[in-house]
Amino acid sequence: MRGIYVHVPFCVRKCGYCDFYSVAAGEEERDRYPALVEREMDLLLRKFPGEAGVPADTVYFGGGTPTVLGPGRLNRLLAAIRSRFPVAEDAEITTEANPGTVTGDDFARLREGGFNRVSLGVQSFRPGTLAALGRIHSVEDVRAAYRDARRAKFRSVGIDLIFGNPGQDEAEWQEDLDLAVTFLPDHVSAYALTPEPGTPIQAAIAGGEIALPDDDAVARMYTAARDTLRAAGYGHYEISNFARPGMECRHNMKYWRRDGYLGLGPSAHGLLFPAESAPFGLRTANPPSLPDYARALREGRPAWSSTRACGREDAWKESLLFGLRMSEGVSPPSIEKRNGPPPDEARKAVEHLIGSGLLLREGDRIRLPEQHWFVSNEVLQRLA
Ligand code: SF4
Repeated sequence: MRGIYVHVPFCVRKCGYCDFYSVAAGEEERDRYPALVEREMDLLLRKFPGEAGVPADTVYFGGGTPTVLGPGRLNRLLAAIRSRFPVAEDAEITTEANPGTVTGDDFARLREGGFNRVSLGVQSFRPGTLAALGRIHSVEDVRAAYRDARRAKFRSVGIDLIFGNPGQDEAEWQEDLDLAVTFLPDHVSAYALTPEPGTPIQAAIAGGEIALPDDDAVARMYTAARDTLRAAGYGHYEISNFARPGMECRHNMKYWRRDGYLGLGPSAHGLLFPAESAPFGLRTANPPSLPDYARALREGRPAWSSTRACGREDAWKESLLFGLRMSEGVSPPSIEKRNGPPPDEARKAVEHLIGSGLLLREGDRIRLPEQHWFVSNEVLQRLA
């Protein structure tokens, strides 16, 4: 079964570190959005009628800030998806939520509409850090949103945290972690701040106005996250993700396991498997621009600004690169079953990494040893 991802390209205000595609939007623009995504689905089904029969067991609304749309529009979009694609009864249906944009009533309505998982963008429990990151919400908003999400009885409530923030020291991060576990979230994502080019935070660092902790301190913060969350009963199932047993994000696992997913909305990416034209997968990318996206749909074209039919080499490379992010690693025989024998280059690269201790072989699986998780990009690049 595949996943369905909907990108909601609206935020109240841009955070200082963020380079995801999102814009501030008025009521009218937000009102028009569900109809655009509905049109995108209809045009896609016109081009690939077979897609109407592909069942989905995860739906994920990300952004941007999906909750800026409000529960009425989100529920309408979810119903529109269900009316066009078979969505499993027990599907995982997630929305990301910014704590400054939701009320208890919103959560209750989302729950009624069929959402069963919420991922709260907390980032930090320190007012100074929230201000440095340019977040719109306060620590009190986080407490209220978490309480309201629990009262609405979502099956899973997760929180996202960021470490390696401007001016942050290790003791402050440890306090954030200690506080996070007292909430008893089902899922925790912890990402190191990456100052993306073109963002205000990156400009402030370049201008010497702020400084990030050094690399060694950030590496120790990563270890602190792993140690604290593990001790509290969370499995470290992917480089940046932790979950109580059985509460892993099924939708994101599809990306790492290279299962298919539809990507809807501006800047969304997808991976389809139309058997006749792209048996190894068709990667789709929507334009990172709401006007361009809307124009394509008005002209009756699918919103894709680019597509790429994957070959066997791509399928192998991607299966290794994404799969090795997970603690479960990958099974080369399973990849071979789906995609045929490994290209020589991939086989040699894997053998070389195993020989130098950068990958571990366990039975028919291979995985990245934990001591290399923080520098996984450097190791995995050798497979790219
Ligand atoms: S709320 Fe999320 S998507 Fe929006 S600007 Fe902030 S980090 Fe980016």
